[in-house]
Amino acid sequence: MKPKNAIGLAIFGWFLALFLSEAKRPLRLGVENKSTRVIRNVMIAGVSAILLQVIDSPLTDLLSRKVARKRLGLLNLVSLPQTFKLVGSVILLDYSLYLWHVLNHKLPVLWRFHVVHHVDLDLDASTAIRFHAGEMAISILWRLLQIRFLGISPLGLQLWRALLMGSILFHHSNIRLPIAIERTLNGFVVTPRMHGIHHSVVEGETNSNWSSGLTIWDKLHGTYRNDVPQDQIIIGVPAYQQKQDVGLRSMLSLPFVHQPPSWNFVLPEGNHETK
Ligand SMILES: [Zn+2]
Repeated sequence: MKPKNAIGLAIFGWFLALFLSEAKRPLRLGVENKSTRVIRNVMIAGVSAILLQVIDSPLTDLLSRKVARKRLGLLNLVSLPQTFKLVGSVILLDYSLYLWHVLNHKLPVLWRFHVVHHVDLDLDASTAIRFHAGEMAISILWRLLQIRFLGISPLGLQLWRALLMGSILFHHSNIRLPIAIERTLNGFVVTPRMHGIHHSVVEGETNSNWSSGLTIWDKLHGTYRNDVPQDQIIIGVPAYQQKQDVGLRSMLSLPFVHQPPSWNFVLPEGNHETK
């Protein structure tokens, strides 16, 4: 079996394992019907996957091969053992993805697309693949900059992609881990409770926990939060709290239509403001 197919199979197995565990030990109560949501999220992801296959893979593969051949970018400034380079690639790509995630929230043109991911009224492993094709298309530009300036080889890119996919499936999942285990993991990597705070309807909570792999980036930037109990979190964006707002067609067209201010809405009864 080709390495790419083996990685794909392992990721699918990880998704299934998380999906089954969510049913056994859910962290948050669901708002929408689970199968309706999962089908919708898979369809949004399907459109993005086609686009990634057609545009992203050929471009990023081509550039990473060129970068390796011509020894371009930060990691090629000095001669390093292959293992160091691979670890360095994962760390640098993870940090630059943190910065890209912040930009996706702060720049209105990017938020128009990233909001589709946040509008989901529940959070589970299927939310991890729910990104609008437009967001994926724009992010190719960032990915090309990452590869070129950080000096990422095809193997470094492949390794990071696999780890990132495993990580985002995990921290979007609705699994109630024993608190001691979650706290230990959270010392290093993003966990479901930590990322749940990033998906809160409270703007000050959403503006935290931007990391996608290692937690160190949020800690270094002072954007790490673990002080919001999950049963107090309402998932989503205040402007889109009704089930009729979040159908598949609305989600696919959302970046291209008028969007009301995302956060200028009265929060539902019982919700809390940030400190
Ligand atoms: Zn986000």
